[in-house]
Amino acid sequence: MIKRIDHIGVAVKDLDKAIETYRDIFGFELLEVEEVPSQKVKVAKFNVGGVHIEFLQPLADDSPISKFLEKKGEGIHHIAYYTDDINGLLDDLKNKGVKMINEEPVKGSSNTVIAFVHPKSSIILTELVSKGE
Ligand code: ZN
Repeated sequence: MIKRIDHIGVAVKDLDKAIETYRDIFGFELLEVEEVPSQKVKVAKFNVGGVHIEFLQPLADDSPISKFLEKKGEGIHHIAYYTDDINGLLDDLKNKGVKMINEEPVKGSSNTVIAFVHPKSSIILTELVSKGE
């Protein structure tokens, strides 16, 4: 079962510029900057009242974020929802015919496991997040 919004992912070309904008101008709390090899991205995470905004800069041309930036430019890339049972949720969604990008959970940032739902099944690209083992 989905519990809450975990974060909103925003694709950017220049992570330093995004950090300057949101830390220095908007005054958001910068939680961490981290590389996520499984997604080939560098992430800057901000906290806004318990919801995180994550700015994602690609680290390689074949990163999913590179493809998004080429097609659509900078902007909202995905919404992530928190669940405490990602395997049960995946089984449930697959049983309902939901198309997944990740059929099984993969390693996310900050000791999480994640799985992406295909936007064909969720309108906007959707990420499911749970605590890692
Ligand atoms: Zn995400």
